[in-house]
Amino acid sequence: MYELPEIEYWKMILAGQLSGKTIEHISTPDKVMHKQLTGIIKQIQGVLVWHIERRGLYLSFHLDNGQRFVIELNNDTAISIISTKELRDKKPKSLNVHFSDQVLQLQNISVEQIQLISVREAEQQFKPLGLDPLDRSFTLERMQQIFAQKRSSIKTAYLDQTLIAGIGDKYSDEIAFAARLSPAYKMNELTSEQWESLYEATRNVLKQAVDHYIALDCPVYEPTSNLDQYKEHLQVFEREGIACPNCKQPIVKKVIARKKTYLCHTCQPTN
Ligand SMILES: [Zn+2]
Repeated sequence: MYELPEIEYWKMILAGQLSGKTIEHISTPDKVMHKQLTGIIKQIQGVLVWHIERRGLYLSFHLDNGQRFVIELNNDTAISIISTKELRDKKPKSLNVHFSDQVLQLQNISVEQIQLISVREAEQQFKPLGLDPLDRSFTLERMQQIFAQKRSSIKTAYLDQTLIAGIGDKYSDEIAFAARLSPAYKMNELTSEQWESLYEATRNVLKQAVDHYIALDCPVYEPTSNLDQYKEHLQVFEREGIACPNCKQPIVKKVIARKKTYLCHTCQPTN
């Protein structure tokens, strides 16, 4: 499941491994996909990757021909970097971006998740995205400006990518727990102390998850195993019936903002 920390982790891995390298070609054993991507395949050949950035839940490769190669990861997509030899041996059904000695492998990806666009088009596409919680511009004051007038719940507000980008079901629940607030709490009724708790929890939960992935230092050719390992560090998400790490009461599952939501009734009061 990809949310901001997982994509941030992959951005760092890919930037470290692929920045400064030239895309030799793109291949896929899927003939239909190959045909649909003909335009991109032709244009991207021999183009150098300057660097890679994350925008919300997108990975954006800055290319030396002035274009952006944008990948949107969904929960089924597995991403990995393998050697050219491994690709030859395994022949996986994936979309493969070939560099001189490495292959960026994207499994379970559709053509809709891949774009080769101009800088201007990329900026237009990313424009609606809200604040990035790992960006320096994400301050308590800025957060309050954006959320203060929202009458919606924390859960609804945090899932709205035009307000805050990159957070989904998992980290919205984890952040609300760390802030000791129910995800159903109305944003416009938060006290100044609760604003601070929510702000600190947002920064800390996301940073800790990124740091955890970095510390694992898993081989990048095992696409999802390293991300799965973080599950045991989650405090409430998908832990229905398990003791709350703070008060030992069972975690409950509720529907808030039409989404499955995990929380502790004792630790997370609502208004
Ligand atoms: Zn509790």
